[in-house]
Amino acid sequence: LTTADLIEDHRICVCVRTRPLNKKELTVKDLDVITIPSKDVVMVHEPKQKVDLTRYLENQTFRFDYAFDDTSTNEMVYRFTARPLVETIFERGMATCFAYGQTGSGKTHTMGGDFSGKNQDCSKGIYALAARDVFLMLKKPNYKKLDLQVFDLLNRKAKLRVLEDGKQQVQVVGLQEREVKCTEDVLKLIEMGNSCRTSGQTSANAHSSRSHAVFQIILRRRGKMHGKFSLIDLAGNERGADTSSADRQTRLEGAEINKSLLALKECIRALGRNKPHTPFRASKLTQVLRDSFIGENSRTCMIATISPGMASCENTLNTLRYANRVKEF
Ligand code: ADP
Ligand code: MG
Repeated sequence: LTTADLIEDHRICVCVRTRPLNKKELTVKDLDVITIPSKDVVMVHEPKQKVDLTRYLENQTFRFDYAFDDTSTNEMVYRFTARPLVETIFERGMATCFAYGQTGSGKTHTMGGDFSGKNQDCSKGIYALAARDVFLMLKKPNYKKLDLQVFDLLNRKAKLRVLEDGKQQVQVVGLQEREVKCTEDVLKLIEMGNSCRTSGQTSANAHSSRSHAVFQIILRRRGKMHGKFSLIDLAGNERGADTSSADRQTRLEGAEINKSLLALKECIRALGRNKPHTPFRASKLTQVLRDSFIGENSRTCMIATISPGMASCENTLNTLRYANRVKEF
């Protein structure tokens, strides 16, 4: 191990989380093709066919910092991913946590939590758990002078514009920022944000699969930024169908999503390699997150969520390969 390896390890954490087969998958008798043989290994049993048409399963193995099986709770995932980053923002750092994966794989369940009521154990997600711990830290004497603000990038779907001023500072026009006093305030905002993101859509996932949701917790001391925590529920990473869509808007959006997910990967890789040049200009998403990818004290965590069904195998493998690349140098 070199010093660079150590820095990189410390700065970037990549995990994977699978979920149980859902009702829909069970109804069509889809099979669970994921096993987690140890706490950092994921195996995908991919269906294949030989030339003589006999079918077999090919095992593909991936190693991550942590692999969460389908019995893991949001609290457990949080403890190994975003929890260590709470300290970072109190130490004047920039912390970022992403959920990346196919639509329906559990990104929103992990980040925003489940308020649907469909889920019996209505569970808090990483937004709420991180907010809870930030408020706990604020009670400590050292940190009493810090103010807390939450950024709401949803703003009733008003179009946001990303601009860069002469000093290379990125401004998001149309952003709503609210002061919060307790975890309950934050929970209300999350619920509001989530309903903005899905209302008026034919399917609950239709809009959210095509938009990135960015939730930011900002600490300020006497008006000056002290630390920032960005928690991001990314757009679904499956974009194959978009490229052939008859609708121009759909194709353009699909291309923008692809571009931003590729740019994101490159920016995290640059952070890990301590490269002075971070290609954040390549997309709006990475522009908005610019200051999270530069600076001495920046840390990132990616949670790759996967759907366990055989029918999702191709998307699952794409997700795992992407997550692997984030940390491979
Ligand atoms: P995404 O945001 O990636 O499109 P969702 O978070 O909306 O996916 O999850 C799709 C469905 O699967 C939801 O109904 C959600 O409640 C359920 N789900 C996701 N992850 C889990 C999990 N770990 N345990 C139980 N149910 C889950
Ligand atoms: Mg979602």
